[in-house]
Amino acid sequence: MNNVILFGPPGSGKGTQAVKLAEAFGLVHISTGDLFRHEMKNNTPLGQKAKDYMEKGQLVPDEVTIGMLNNKVEAHPEAKGFIFDGFPRTVAQAEALDQMLAQKGQKINALIALDVPDEEIVNRILLRGKTSGRPDDNDESIIRNRIEVYKSQTQPVYDYYDDQCRAHTVLGLGSIDEIFGRLNTLFEEVLA
Ligand code: AMP
Repeated sequence: MNNVILFGPPGSGKGTQAVKLAEAFGLVHISTGDLFRHEMKNNTPLGQKAKDYMEKGQLVPDEVTIGMLNNKVEAHPEAKGFIFDGFPRTVAQAEALDQMLAQKGQKINALIALDVPDEEIVNRILLRGKTSGRPDDNDESIIRNRIEVYKSQTQPVYDYYDDQCRAHTVLGLGSIDEIFGRLNTLFEEVLA
Protein backbone atom coordinates (compact mmCIF):
# COMPACT_ATOMS: atom_id res chain seq x y z
CA MET A 1 0.00 0.00 0.00
CA ASN A 2 1.06 3.57 -0.68
CA ASN A 3 0.00 6.34 1.66
CA VAL A 4 0.84 10.00 1.15
CA ILE A 5 -0.05 13.08 3.20
CA LEU A 6 -0.63 16.17 1.08
CA PHE A 7 0.25 18.97 3.45
CA GLY A 8 0.18 22.76 3.46
CA PRO A 9 -1.73 25.77 4.73
CA PRO A 10 -5.40 26.35 3.93
CA GLY A 11 -5.76 27.53 0.34
CA SER A 12 -2.46 26.01 -0.78
CA GLY A 13 -4.20 23.86 -3.40
CA LYS A 14 -4.14 20.51 -1.55
CA GLY A 15 -7.73 19.62 -2.45
CA THR A 16 -7.37 20.41 -6.16
CA GLN A 17 -4.10 18.51 -6.46
CA ALA A 18 -5.22 15.57 -4.28
CA VAL A 19 -8.14 14.83 -6.64
CA LYS A 20 -5.79 14.79 -9.66
CA LEU A 21 -3.12 12.72 -7.92
CA ALA A 22 -5.62 10.18 -6.57
CA GLU A 23 -6.83 9.60 -10.11
CA ALA A 24 -3.35 9.44 -11.62
CA PHE A 25 -2.01 6.97 -9.04
CA GLY A 26 -5.16 4.95 -8.24
CA LEU A 27 -5.31 6.05 -4.60
CA VAL A 28 -8.33 6.91 -2.42
CA HIS A 29 -8.53 10.62 -1.54
CA ILE A 30 -9.65 11.45 2.00
CA SER A 31 -10.25 15.11 2.89
CA THR A 32 -11.30 15.60 6.52
CA GLY A 33 -12.60 19.11 5.67
CA ASP A 34 -14.89 17.63 2.97
CA LEU A 35 -16.03 14.89 5.38
CA PHE A 36 -16.92 17.46 8.05
CA ARG A 37 -18.77 19.65 5.51
CA HIS A 38 -20.75 16.60 4.36
CA GLU A 39 -21.71 15.80 7.96
CA MET A 40 -22.69 19.43 8.57
CA LYS A 41 -24.85 19.53 5.44
CA ASN A 42 -26.72 16.45 6.67
CA ASN A 43 -26.93 17.92 10.17
CA THR A 44 -25.60 14.73 11.78
CA PRO A 45 -24.39 14.67 15.43
CA LEU A 46 -20.81 14.68 14.09
CA GLY A 47 -21.59 17.68 11.88
CA GLN A 48 -23.14 19.52 14.82
CA LYS A 49 -19.99 18.88 16.89
CA ALA A 50 -17.72 20.24 14.12
CA LYS A 51 -19.78 23.29 13.09
CA ASP A 52 -18.73 25.84 15.74
CA TYR A 53 -15.05 25.03 15.40
CA MET A 54 -15.12 25.19 11.60
CA GLU A 55 -16.99 28.47 11.48
CA LYS A 56 -14.38 30.08 13.75
CA GLY A 57 -11.47 28.60 11.80
CA GLN A 58 -10.41 26.45 14.78
CA LEU A 59 -9.50 22.78 14.69
CA VAL A 60 -12.17 20.21 15.51
CA PRO A 61 -11.00 18.25 18.60
CA ASP A 62 -8.63 15.36 17.88
CA GLU A 63 -10.84 12.58 19.25
CA VAL A 64 -13.70 13.57 16.92
CA THR A 65 -11.41 13.92 13.90
CA ILE A 66 -9.39 10.76 14.48
CA GLY A 67 -12.53 8.64 14.96
CA MET A 68 -14.03 9.95 11.72
CA LEU A 69 -10.77 9.34 9.82
CA ASN A 70 -10.47 5.77 11.11
CA ASN A 71 -14.02 5.00 9.99
CA LYS A 72 -13.31 6.34 6.51
CA VAL A 73 -10.13 4.27 6.13
CA GLU A 74 -11.96 1.15 7.36
CA ALA A 75 -14.66 1.79 4.75
CA HIS A 76 -12.09 1.20 1.96
CA PRO A 77 -10.59 -2.26 2.51
CA GLU A 78 -9.99 -2.51 -1.26
CA ALA A 79 -7.80 0.63 -1.41
CA LYS A 80 -4.31 0.42 -2.91
CA GLY A 81 -3.47 3.36 -0.68
CA PHE A 82 -4.67 6.78 0.44
CA ILE A 83 -3.95 10.45 -0.11
CA PHE A 84 -4.68 12.26 3.13
CA ASP A 85 -5.69 15.90 2.55
CA GLY A 86 -6.10 18.16 5.60
CA PHE A 87 -5.14 15.35 7.97
CA PRO A 88 -3.11 15.05 10.19
CA ARG A 89 -3.31 18.63 11.48
CA THR A 90 -1.82 17.99 14.94
CA VAL A 91 1.04 15.79 16.15
CA ALA A 92 -1.50 13.72 18.13
CA GLN A 93 -3.37 13.04 14.86
CA ALA A 94 -0.09 12.05 13.16
CA GLU A 95 0.71 9.62 15.96
CA ALA A 96 -2.80 8.14 15.81
CA LEU A 97 -2.51 7.75 12.02
CA ASP A 98 0.87 6.01 12.25
CA GLN A 99 -0.51 3.70 14.93
CA MET A 100 -3.60 2.84 12.90
CA LEU A 101 -1.55 2.08 9.80
CA ALA A 102 1.01 0.07 11.80
CA GLN A 103 -1.80 -2.18 13.03
CA LYS A 104 -2.45 -3.00 9.36
CA GLY A 105 1.28 -3.46 8.63
CA GLN A 106 1.24 -0.18 6.67
CA LYS A 107 2.96 3.18 6.90
CA ILE A 108 3.08 6.71 5.48
CA ASN A 109 5.44 6.75 2.49
CA ALA A 110 5.80 10.53 2.53
CA LEU A 111 4.42 13.86 3.60
CA ILE A 112 4.50 16.42 0.77
CA ALA A 113 4.01 20.07 1.72
CA LEU A 114 2.87 22.77 -0.70
CA ASP A 115 4.73 25.99 0.05
CA VAL A 116 2.66 29.16 -0.57
CA PRO A 117 3.24 32.63 0.99
CA ASP A 118 0.60 33.97 3.44
CA GLU A 119 -0.61 36.90 1.29
CA GLU A 120 -1.15 34.62 -1.71
CA ILE A 121 -3.17 32.28 0.55
CA VAL A 122 -5.45 35.06 1.79
CA ASN A 123 -6.11 36.22 -1.80
CA ARG A 124 -6.77 32.70 -3.05
CA ILE A 125 -9.19 31.87 -0.24
CA LEU A 126 -11.12 35.14 -0.63
CA LEU A 127 -11.42 34.37 -4.36
CA ARG A 128 -12.55 30.79 -3.63
CA GLY A 129 -15.08 32.18 -1.13
CA LYS A 130 -16.97 33.86 -3.96
CA THR A 131 -18.06 30.44 -5.22
CA SER A 132 -17.38 27.93 -2.41
CA GLY A 133 -20.23 29.13 -0.20
CA ARG A 134 -17.99 28.37 2.80
CA PRO A 135 -18.47 30.86 5.67
CA ASP A 136 -14.82 30.25 6.70
CA ASP A 137 -13.66 31.41 3.22
CA ASN A 138 -15.52 34.72 3.32
CA ASP A 139 -14.15 36.55 6.35
CA GLU A 140 -10.55 37.76 6.28
CA SER A 141 -10.12 37.59 10.07
CA ILE A 142 -11.24 33.92 10.07
CA ILE A 143 -8.88 33.18 7.18
CA ARG A 144 -5.99 34.77 9.10
CA ASN A 145 -6.96 32.75 12.17
CA ARG A 146 -6.81 29.54 10.08
CA ILE A 147 -3.29 30.52 8.98
CA GLU A 148 -2.26 31.12 12.61
CA VAL A 149 -3.75 27.77 13.68
CA TYR A 150 -1.81 26.14 10.86
CA LYS A 151 1.46 27.70 12.03
CA SER A 152 1.01 26.92 15.72
CA GLN A 153 -0.71 23.52 15.70
CA THR A 154 -0.17 21.99 12.26
CA GLN A 155 3.34 23.02 11.22
CA PRO A 156 4.87 20.71 13.92
CA VAL A 157 3.44 17.76 11.95
CA TYR A 158 5.96 18.60 9.20
CA ASP A 159 8.82 18.31 11.72
CA TYR A 160 7.38 15.03 13.04
CA TYR A 161 7.74 13.42 9.58
CA ASP A 162 10.93 15.35 8.76
CA ASP A 163 12.60 13.77 11.80
CA GLN A 164 11.84 10.42 10.13
CA CYS A 165 13.19 11.72 6.76
CA ARG A 166 9.77 11.39 5.15
CA ALA A 167 8.91 15.09 4.60
CA HIS A 168 9.26 16.94 1.28
CA THR A 169 8.39 20.48 0.15
CA VAL A 170 7.12 21.53 -3.27
CA LEU A 171 6.60 25.09 -4.53
CA GLY A 172 2.84 25.71 -4.58
CA LEU A 173 2.98 28.72 -6.93
CA GLY A 174 2.28 28.61 -10.66
CA SER A 175 -0.50 27.06 -12.72
CA ILE A 176 -2.44 24.01 -11.51
CA ASP A 177 -0.68 21.94 -14.20
CA GLU A 178 2.78 23.20 -13.24
CA ILE A 179 2.22 22.32 -9.57
CA PHE A 180 0.73 18.95 -10.56
CA GLY A 181 3.87 18.26 -12.64
CA ARG A 182 6.10 18.87 -9.61
CA LEU A 183 3.96 16.67 -7.38
CA ASN A 184 3.74 13.94 -10.00
CA THR A 185 7.54 13.70 -10.22
CA LEU A 186 7.83 13.45 -6.43
CA PHE A 187 5.02 10.86 -6.18
CA GLU A 188 6.89 8.66 -8.65
CA GLU A 189 9.94 8.85 -6.37
CA VAL A 190 8.19 8.12 -3.07
CA LEU A 191 5.66 5.46 -4.11
CA ALA A 192 6.81 1.87 -3.79
P1 AMP B 1 -10.21 22.30 5.14
O1 AMP B 1 -11.32 22.02 4.17
O2 AMP B 1 -9.16 21.23 5.12
O3 AMP B 1 -9.62 23.69 4.99
O4 AMP B 1 -10.84 22.24 6.60
C1 AMP B 1 -11.87 23.14 6.99
C2 AMP B 1 -12.05 23.10 8.50
O5 AMP B 1 -12.40 21.77 8.92
C3 AMP B 1 -10.81 23.43 9.32
O6 AMP B 1 -10.61 24.82 9.47
C4 AMP B 1 -11.13 22.73 10.64
O7 AMP B 1 -12.08 23.47 11.38
C5 AMP B 1 -11.82 21.45 10.17
N1 AMP B 1 -10.84 20.35 9.95
C6 AMP B 1 -10.54 19.75 8.77
N2 AMP B 1 -9.61 18.79 8.94
C7 AMP B 1 -9.30 18.81 10.27
C8 AMP B 1 -8.38 18.07 11.08
N3 AMP B 1 -7.57 17.14 10.56
N4 AMP B 1 -8.35 18.34 12.40
C9 AMP B 1 -9.16 19.27 12.95
N5 AMP B 1 -10.02 20.02 12.25
C10 AMP B 1 -10.09 19.79 10.91
